[in-house]
Amino acid sequence: MNQTKTFLRAALTLLLLASTAAPALPQSKEASKTAPVTDTLRATTGTPTTTTIGRDERLWQKTLKLQRSAIVVDTHNDILSFMFDENYDIGQSSVGKYHTDIARMKEGGLSAEFFSVYVDRSYAATGGSARRAMDLIDMVYRAAEKYPNELVMSYTAADIRRAKKQKKIAALMGIEGGHAIENSLFALRDFYRLGIRYMTLTHNNTNDWADACCDQSKHNGLSDFGKEVVREMNRIGMLVDISHVSDKTMSDVLDISTAPVIASHSSARALAARPRNIPDDLLRRIAKNGGVVMINFFPNFIDQKAIDASAARDARLKPERDRIIEQYKNDAKRRGEELDKLNAANPLPPTPLSVLVDHFDHVAKVAGIDHVGIGSDFDGVSSLPEGMKDIAQLPNLTYELLRRGYSERDVRKVLGENFLRAFAEAERVAARASGGHVSRDASVRRIN
Ligand SMILES: [Zn+2]
Repeated sequence: MNQTKTFLRAALTLLLLASTAAPALPQSKEASKTAPVTDTLRATTGTPTTTTIGRDERLWQKTLKLQRSAIVVDTHNDILSFMFDENYDIGQSSVGKYHTDIARMKEGGLSAEFFSVYVDRSYAATGGSARRAMDLIDMVYRAAEKYPNELVMSYTAADIRRAKKQKKIAALMGIEGGHAIENSLFALRDFYRLGIRYMTLTHNNTNDWADACCDQSKHNGLSDFGKEVVREMNRIGMLVDISHVSDKTMSDVLDISTAPVIASHSSARALAARPRNIPDDLLRRIAKNGGVVMINFFPNFIDQKAIDASAARDARLKPERDRIIEQYKNDAKRRGEELDKLNAANPLPPTPLSVLVDHFDHVAKVAGIDHVGIGSDFDGVSSLPEGMKDIAQLPNLTYELLRRGYSERDVRKVLGENFLRAFAEAERVAARASGGHVSRDASVRRIN
């Protein structure tokens, strides 16, 4: 029954995507809302760069030194879904299968990871959204308890700096998909207590109080209750994440948020015409708000050539795709595998690393260098740019920014300091508003 429902939703999604200008890679969580399928993930070498030809060795050594000393924050990683669904142990190497494991996080110089507590839209229909989130949250604690020398649960900007000093990776959590709170501000506060420090107001689905990027508009942005959710997040110190929401929802959030917001994994629409990306006028408003746009690495969001090629491929392969979808309509896993195989046999042109770095450039130009950061979306996407095939390759971004003339100080901002500034400011806003009393004077407003 579940699978049939999931299939129907997937089929509807495909229809919807086919009717818009920019179809997506169906095996990515970003695109399809089904659980991510890993077959096309090509996590690579375990060495920090594949672009050694023509590399300036002095600049590379400078890169590595900077990477080691800087605070490097990634605000969106989907490995947690695999840790729960596939019982994947993040302490074991997953080179060639996933984008993330502890050894490669270290190799990439990562200081802090936000594990995405991703709640698929299907739970909004079937029930169980909050339970799904709680299951995933426990899995992060489980990893941190199993690897206490490598990971440390963290809740504040100061915790991240402390973890860095201890040479550990700070483990933080953000909920992806506001339906996870099941329309309850009480549950929102409970999630805060469990350690959730940002919430993406929607996934690709419009929920009962906020419109999403890639779904019907039902509330003209945020409903009254949606505004209450944002105010409550400000009050308790949970960052409001505007990735995945509609432009009007972003605009409503920016109208009312008293704390800096983040886009935990979004890129620039001026460079790639996808509704998941952020247009320039909103980039400027995020800058005014003191927020940070954390750039998503997914080629199908950042590379107009890949987007166009993907659309053409989907149109070309439609009969075969339809056949697979029909044949495996009751077997989501097999269906994903077969679609992956079909895509693998019809590869898209590779996306150069420079295309990704162009998005950092663009946001730095339009919003300012203080408002851009890293939101990789590793393990939530089905392909990645050249030289950024897994988390170990993060230094390639640093190298490219230095090569383009960014100062070390500015690169540090991009790598983590911008996020830490916004995070710390959100903590100050909450301290003033609630004095640390998460529940005492809290809103008891309810819907449903
Ligand atoms: Zn996402």
